[in-house]
Amino acid sequence: MKKLKDLVRPSIRNLKPYSSARDEFQGDASVFLDANENPYNKPYNRYPDPLQRQLKARISELKEVAADSIFLGNGSDEAIDLLIRAFCEPVTDNILSIDPSYGMYEVSANVNNVPFRKVKLDKNFDLDADRLLKEVDEHTKIIFLCSPNNPSGNNLNRQEIYKVLDRFTGIVVIDEAYIDFSSLPSFTTELRKYPRMVILQTLSKAFGAAAIRLGMAFAAPEIIAILNKIKYPYNINLLTQEKALELLADVAPVKKQIARILSERNTLESTMHQIPCVQDIYPTDANFILIKVTDANATYDFLVKEGIIVRNRNTVTLCNDCLRITIGTPKENNKLLEALNKMPV
Ligand code: PMP
Repeated sequence: MKKLKDLVRPSIRNLKPYSSARDEFQGDASVFLDANENPYNKPYNRYPDPLQRQLKARISELKEVAADSIFLGNGSDEAIDLLIRAFCEPVTDNILSIDPSYGMYEVSANVNNVPFRKVKLDKNFDLDADRLLKEVDEHTKIIFLCSPNNPSGNNLNRQEIYKVLDRFTGIVVIDEAYIDFSSLPSFTTELRKYPRMVILQTLSKAFGAAAIRLGMAFAAPEIIAILNKIKYPYNINLLTQEKALELLADVAPVKKQIARILSERNTLESTMHQIPCVQDIYPTDANFILIKVTDANATYDFLVKEGIIVRNRNTVTLCNDCLRITIGTPKENNKLLEALNKMPV
């Protein structure tokens, strides 16, 4: 394992972070005249807590992760970008990931001018750690894995993930955006054992709150401290912090929704087997299913005409003639099944 100070970009290691009014005074007072805020229009006149302490305390309880091991971002997309900016020197350092997977790792790498290497998964969309690790060189700073993976929906083989965690000396990011739909547990219980692992989760999927933009990164406190140092001072607005606290106050309704979505997923999977244009249904641990059809472009166009929008993944690696379909309500899913049944083969 490399020392964190040798992984972080020198400019970030030496950076003196911005110190906001709310950083400099954190106690209670009756008169606040320190942040050039308008004294009227409460509570929106005040800057929000830059470190979102109340929200992190609740997430800490729910996820059983210490508060200083939690970073909150404007979606997990913010954490992806900040990790790249913290660890990868443009042009010189590189990032490694799997193919196919979530597109933002590559886009963020490109935005930051950091070379991005990807290793094709096998035909079952599974990871071969040896093949992945062969692509590592002395400038590889981050490996992005996604499990359950997008667009395939499967969990990557855990033994192979452990091989990557055990052998790679840089940062291993495991994107768990879909973990709440998965039969396998989160890697958060392994944070102590792997101090260079970063786990990404989000309120955008199982918690039904994509609109409020709240992503979570769980990692060793020294990694979280680096992300906090380079983030925008008030990256999570007050409305999002309040709404997230409200959503997380009682997770029972969310658990019920997850159960409903999983049951619908089972129904969809078994019914789709009988549909003529469906050639293959890939195993999924997420809230979507990847299917292979006889002609993805024609099926996509046909579904659009029926008023149903799915994701055409035809041009994605290993996804020739594949559509990615999110699990909807029973009514929406029935509409999809009826339409697919009408699709001429
Ligand atoms: N990771 C994966 C694997 C995703 O599929 C998505 C969204 N499609 C994200 C992260 C982004 O999540 P957020 O809304 O938290 O930015």
